[in-house]
Amino acid sequence: MIREQLQEVEARIEAACARAGRKREDVTLIAVSKTKPVEALREAYDLGIRVFGENKVQELTEKYDALPGDIRWHMIGHLQTNKVKYIIDKAELIHSVDSIRLAEAIEKEAAKRERTVRILAEVNVAEEESKFGIRMDEAIPFIEKIAGYPHIQVCGLMTIAPFVENPEENRPIFKNLHKLSVDIAGKNIDNVNVNILSMGMTNDYEVAIEEGATMVRVGTGIFGARDYTVSG
Ligand SMILES: *Cc1c(COP(=O)(O)O)cnc(C)c1O
Repeated sequence: MIREQLQEVEARIEAACARAGRKREDVTLIAVSKTKPVEALREAYDLGIRVFGENKVQELTEKYDALPGDIRWHMIGHLQTNKVKYIIDKAELIHSVDSIRLAEAIEKEAAKRERTVRILAEVNVAEEESKFGIRMDEAIPFIEKIAGYPHIQVCGLMTIAPFVENPEENRPIFKNLHKLSVDIAGKNIDNVNVNILSMGMTNDYEVAIEEGATMVRVGTGIFGARDYTVSG
């Protein structure tokens, strides 16, 4: 099943890139494997997938240990400051930096290891109460502040759009995140680039690609529906 679903997602990504006049290699597919057993990830791995997204620290570290070392793990979920140390050496990109406190914790752990950690600023473009992320109007001061941390490299922006019946409803959200990235790029802040736009999930990744997504985070579309009663 994963094979067919992956083929379908791949075809849709290619079609969206073609519609937008973009190159396929400019969009990274992140296979969001949260709640899925290691066997499912192994199946995707054997089909060529090397980039996986997880939203829980413990799950990411367990799967990291159980699967091949050439996988690139992305932390896409809300991250508590006291858990940064467990994933800092395991995640190639943290998508969910949404507070100065968290950025400080990452800076501290990265400095201890004498490394630079790549992050995205999570922006709550839709201003949903239930979601994490900084507000649009906080984004520039937030990024200017983080840019001062020597062991953090700001690489772009991430947003989680609302669940909607018609993905077209999320187009303005993706447009706004893209526009924000252009505004930030125009500021030429030292130590900041905004080349990565992580936006679009199973329900709306094609629209996100049309609006400039460089990373799409697709879970259900690849692995099928998640069963939270089994995995807790
Ligand atoms: C679960 C999750 C996804 C994937 O959601 P699907 O709708 O299953 O594609 C993407 N991004 C984040 C941050 C998630 O938590």
